Amino acid sequence: MKLAGRVAIVTGGSGGIGRAIVLGLAAEKAAVVVSNRGSREDAESVVDEVCACGGTAAYVSADVTRPAAVEKMVSEVIERFGRVDILVNNAGISRDSLLPLMRTAQWQEVIDVNLSGVFYCTRAVVRPMALRRSGAIINISSILGERPWRAHVNYSAAKAAVNALTRASAVELARFGIRVNAVAPGFILTKMTRTALEKFRDRVLASIPLGDFGQPEDVAKAVAFLASDDARYITGEVLHVTGGAGIAVGPL
Ligand code: NDP
Repeated sequence: MKLAGRVAIVTGGSGGIGRAIVLGLAAEKAAVVVSNRGSREDAESVVDEVCACGGTAAYVSADVTRPAAVEKMVSEVIERFGRVDILVNNAGISRDSLLPLMRTAQWQEVIDVNLSGVFYCTRAVVRPMALRRSGAIINISSILGERPWRAHVNYSAAKAAVNALTRASAVELARFGIRVNAVAPGFILTKMTRTALEKFRDRVLASIPLGDFGQPEDVAKAVAFLASDDARYITGEVLHVTGGAGIAVGPL
């Protein structure tokens, strides 16, 4: 019940990790707004799941790459719930390619969704949060923002910039009572990782000290913690949820 009375927005709340984040925040009694740009059906099924458990949830469609749509989403949330306390910038995509073959569109699309989307959504909630002098923003980054993997220059660059944006906005927004942190997941079993893990499953697994892939719920628990008052003195941090992946230099 750590988030009773709070209102949260989760972008990409219909996806693998987003869905778990929505359910995790709802389990702590936050009212949760699920947002995505694609399938309304997928997003509404998450809303239905929350409501079936006695929670409060709503769907608001918004493409995070469109600043006007993002502003409209936040206005709709304020209109319906009167406030926004938590923003989880989770929407993300991958468009993998070896660098020399990467098309400009693959580069740009990943930067637009994974980086610019975080900025647009953060900018849109600052005013309503600052008016209450309270807020928690959690950006979903990635281990690939710090540890490279081939064919991911667009994704790595975007996530590294999200870590920088997290620290910079934490410093700037602290005076308004707004905390900004990031969660950097390692290899979590979702639609996004399915293809890569089909190909490299054993090699990737061998690089994870805890010897297992992560589940979306592992990320969701870290997000619920950072959103709560238990993390009241934590801002500007990047919390790794990786099973230890990326720490070791040599073979395990
Ligand atoms: P999914 O593909 O399962 O979910 C992505 C979500 O983002 C979907 O809800 C999708 O909905 C939404 N989305 C995509 N583009 C947009 C957009 N322009 N506007 C609004 N919503 C959008 O991915 P994951 O759950 O695996 O990933 C979630 C986050 O976690 C991402 O930021 C990802 O980079 C990060 N991450 C994931 C890891 C993993 O191992 N899975 C590891 C490290 C980080 P729709 O397409 O319907 O709009």
